Amino acid sequence: MHVTATELGLPALRGTAKRDPGRPDDSRLIDGFGRVATDLRISLTDRCNLRCTYCMPAEGLDWMPREEQLTDAELVRLVTIAVRDLGVHELRFTGGEPLLRKGLEEVIAASAALEPRPDISLTTNGIGLARRAEALAAAGVNRLNVSMDTLRPERFASITRRDRLSDVLAGLAAARAAGLEPVKINSVLLRGVNDDEATDLLAFAVEHGYELRFIEQMPLDAQHGWQRAEMITAGEIMEKLATRFTLTPDGEERGGAPAERYLVDGGPSRVGVIASVTRPFCGACDRTRLTADGQVRSCLFARTETDLRALVRGGASDAEIADVWRYAMWGKLAGHGIDDPGFLQPDRPMSAIGG
Ligand code: SAM
Ligand code: SF4
Repeated sequence: MHVTATELGLPALRGTAKRDPGRPDDSRLIDGFGRVATDLRISLTDRCNLRCTYCMPAEGLDWMPREEQLTDAELVRLVTIAVRDLGVHELRFTGGEPLLRKGLEEVIAASAALEPRPDISLTTNGIGLARRAEALAAAGVNRLNVSMDTLRPERFASITRRDRLSDVLAGLAAARAAGLEPVKINSVLLRGVNDDEATDLLAFAVEHGYELRFIEQMPLDAQHGWQRAEMITAGEIMEKLATRFTLTPDGEERGGAPAERYLVDGGPSRVGVIASVTRPFCGACDRTRLTADGQVRSCLFARTETDLRALVRGGASDAEIADVWRYAMWGKLAGHGIDDPGFLQPDRPMSAIGG
């Protein structure tokens, strides 16, 4: 019987990207389409204490064995190479749930001590943030995003399968009190579940001084249940918001930022919409990604990975690792191709890549 890699549950094709002799001699993470990756997204763990229905099944996933995960020292070494040798100047720690990673504050403090000092942010579900916000700020986190899809406790419990909305709200307030500004809220709207809350979420964010960003649901769930026709599009989100607010483009240069940003009722409050599916921004992408087990991915939707952990554990020098990372990014595809007839969802779910 023929068994595919996907059926075996193996992650995308792993290995080392070919050394294309056509790659210009440039120390940065350039690709063949003129983009330069300067923003490193790091997944610290694939584990999570919530079970958002659009992300993972109720029973969770087969978590990565501890020995496969990079140690703090291995991780800091790769981050150092990225910042010092490859021109990365933004770091975002995510997961899974990054607050579950032991040693998080130490990893952040080591990253913040690098030269040039990178900008450091965190994407978290907010559980436990109330206790940690001060320490995270002291360690060097500049900004953070907290995910919250609803303001209704029963709804929160059914979307995340845990009754923890009050923890998230406390986490948001603690983040602001710790000066981690701007505190952003990430919301995913699901048809028939919370899509009637778009305006309530924005009113809440405006009232409390948080910056809300709606994210279009992407085909990255572990269950492979995403359906294009079911997702709430950016266009629909804008229509819903327009029933209660006047939105005008904020006029700022977007650069590689995924969110289209609008002033709410003339400002200063803003709202962002990340239309990854209906208005992809791949042409301006400046991201490179590192999974908790030390694989470089050039895109959330990449189907190949480059194994830096094997190099780290095999005694490779910093220069060798940097070079392999450069070639991994040189081969980045032009776009994610969600709309292509041959689109294949990556084998790793969002929670194991780092969203
Ligand atoms: N656990 C943390 C959290 O929820 O913020 C960090 C990881 S989570 C994968 C990062 C972000 O991705 C969250 O805002 C979450 O709502 C979003 N997300 C998860 N699955 C998604 C999907 N299929 N499409 C779009 N966004 C998704
Ligand atoms: Fe956990 Fe974040 Fe996925 Fe929700 S979206 S299950 S909080 S990793």
